[in-house]
Amino acid sequence: KCHLESAKMLNLDSSVDASLNLQSRPDVLTCTYWKAAIIWEGMFDPRLYDEMHKMRGSSVALTVFAVGRYLDAYLHTFLNSSEQHFMVGLPVTYYVFTDMPEKVPNIKLSPLRSMKVIKVEKNSRWQDVSMMRMKSISDVIESDIRHHCTHVFCFDVDQVFTGRFGSEALGDSVALLHAHYYRLPKHLYTYDRNPNSKAYMETGDFYYHAAIFGGLWKNVKALTEACYQGIMEDKQNNVEALWHDESHLNKYMLLHKPSKVLSPEYCWDTSIGFRRDIQVTRLLWAPKYYDTLRTP
Ligand code: UDP
Ligand code: MN
Repeated sequence: KCHLESAKMLNLDSSVDASLNLQSRPDVLTCTYWKAAIIWEGMFDPRLYDEMHKMRGSSVALTVFAVGRYLDAYLHTFLNSSEQHFMVGLPVTYYVFTDMPEKVPNIKLSPLRSMKVIKVEKNSRWQDVSMMRMKSISDVIESDIRHHCTHVFCFDVDQVFTGRFGSEALGDSVALLHAHYYRLPKHLYTYDRNPNSKAYMETGDFYYHAAIFGGLWKNVKALTEACYQGIMEDKQNNVEALWHDESHLNKYMLLHKPSKVLSPEYCWDTSIGFRRDIQVTRLLWAPKYYDTLRTP
């Protein structure tokens, strides 16, 4: 078991996880070397996490971007499925960023859940749409989220919830293991290897997937600000990190270790095929129609 007494000194989530009797699993890595739990099915009692977060008054902001053709292609399914599975029982506020507010589907939300729609400009390059999320998220945390929510979770829109994505995923600072990389040796991780980019790194702990990250609003604000700053410095220097915002996120997480890590159950790609260690899928990649979605 990784949730040693000493873990309590290192990070608050570890001590909470220990007190909620988080279990280990023999077949997968359930703890990082800095004592952050890696959350897999079978390790936790969902009721204990829900109870604790209700008692503490946790409330969650979910940010999602649906700009250009991504709105029609994904937003309805994303929101409908998140109503079924995302943080059920806790107060949730959706922050939907789009260039076409009038086209946001009218979805009936459960009690305790509400939606705010925020208009953003449509960048012509998809890479910029993706990267500029960092700026929009940090702005809305400052202007709104910090007054209303304890936690923030940021999502790509091209995915569908298919199982519980609950309060066990909440933490001070949360990152996700990329489904395509969690079993690969480190030399195959696709970090940015250009020394001229702010995202440059030779090696790291894991390859994190930028489709999901989260944490306390303060931490997500720090993360998004740092990534945005790196992105803008790169632009001034005429470089772009290999995987855009994801490269900057990986660099940030190397320097500021997440206090909780989500297993690929939290963002699985069924095209990978059967894997014995994936006992439940909580969120699935939706089909990617890059040809039609990304042509300006
Ligand atoms: N996005 C968008 N419109 C665009 C490009 C991107 O709304 O034209 C948003 C959307 O939320 C998307 C995310 O940015 O899920 C990241 O882009 P994408 O999913 O295409 O990246 P990938 O999953 O391939 O890394
Ligand atoms: Mn995506």
